[in-house]
Amino acid sequence: MPMPDVDVAILGGGCAGLSLAVRLAKSDLSVRVIEPRSKYIDDRAWSFWRTQSDPFEDCVREEWTSWTVQGPQGETLRSSSSMRYQTVKSGAFYNRALELIEQGNDTSISMGTHAHGVSRAGDCWQVDTDAGSLTATNVVDTRPPSRVPSYGQFFLGREIKTERPVFNPDVVQLMHFRRARSGGVDFVYILPFAIDQALVEVTSFAPHNPGQEVFTKWLDEEINALNPGQMETLRTEAGALPMQAGFADHNLDGIIRMGLGGGAARPSTGYAFARNQLQSDQVAAALVSGQVPDTRLDSVMTRFMDRVFLQVLAVKPERGPALFETLFRNVSPDRLERFLSGSTRAVDLLSVMTALPPLPFLYAAAFPK
Ligand SMILES: Cc1cc2nc3c(=O)[nH]c(=O)nc-3n(C[C@H](O)[C@H](O)[C@H](O)COP(=O)(O)OP(=O)(O)OC[C@H]3O[C@@H](n4cnc5c(N)ncnc54)[C@H](O)[C@@H]3O)c2cc1C
Repeated sequence: MPMPDVDVAILGGGCAGLSLAVRLAKSDLSVRVIEPRSKYIDDRAWSFWRTQSDPFEDCVREEWTSWTVQGPQGETLRSSSSMRYQTVKSGAFYNRALELIEQGNDTSISMGTHAHGVSRAGDCWQVDTDAGSLTATNVVDTRPPSRVPSYGQFFLGREIKTERPVFNPDVVQLMHFRRARSGGVDFVYILPFAIDQALVEVTSFAPHNPGQEVFTKWLDEEINALNPGQMETLRTEAGALPMQAGFADHNLDGIIRMGLGGGAARPSTGYAFARNQLQSDQVAAALVSGQVPDTRLDSVMTRFMDRVFLQVLAVKPERGPALFETLFRNVSPDRLERFLSGSTRAVDLLSVMTALPPLPFLYAAAFPK
């Protein structure tokens, strides 16, 4: 029987694929990442509450310990002495990942190459790519999911530099709810880097993408309302993330699924960066010790909570602003932020459950859709 070309083939060198490759580069396993992009650009910024260490800590561009939520009762300011909300620029992340892969043992990346079919070939896998086929003992698929989720997070953002000092650089505007534009739960998010520089983003939690036209008009209005004076757009970002409990394919007949298609996005919030790091630690440890990786990140209870919470948002989106406001007002910041970012402990779940109004949740729990 011929030996496979590599121990691990990773399909997709984005956040999840590179995070895993960086961990495996320190091991004795041979690894090949297949990535269609011919070069990386600074295409997004990942923000998250840091709950654990990861290899990309020196790529953090900025961090905050205060954030606001604006709902029907006005603005709520929350601060935490221990939880930091951090932003990693993807450009810095990609450079760091390539550097760590380069320094590693037997890990390489094939840029400008698409992976196509994956099939069983004796004891190993055959991956067909633009550049021919490759055999591997394990395949980790981080390609974007082709399935369409029943509910999602959709957003459009611009990082702008303004003439006037219109931002408070110490406080993130996390969820400032606005009149619904999409039939979903709509809010504005402002990540301030300086008094005259911020990422301003409009976001909808909704069953369908409201579309470019709705978002562009809405974002223009929000930016104009800041009265910024002359303004320069430094970068634009847009996204559509799954928010559906049970959306993940964890293990497709033995192919290991990671990233957005493997449940990295927290179903009730869409936060995925920190969870990509957790999943990479889990999968790398299992592959190195020759075990079958378990990519699941959430307990049965967390999955149930997400399912119920999302059902309430989908059926009664007009309740969304008050529900998030209640959570931010009544749950301690550290517990809530662990819940939102997905590193949830039993005590965090309990705090969140007791803070929410029982009736809609009992109904959604009893009558799943
Ligand atoms: C604009 C934007 C902003 C975001 N901001 C945040 C944030 O602030 N905080 C947060 O927690 N999450 C955020 N997310 C969500 C999530 O963290 C990111 O989507 C993250 O990149 C997901 O990681 P991934 O590896 O699953 O997907 P990706 O990083 O998109 O990687 C998938 C990879 O698969 C490759 N690929 C595609 N087709 C093929 C093929 N045929 N063969 C091989 N490879 C292929 C792609 O080129 C890509 O490199 C954001 C998402 C977007 C889009």
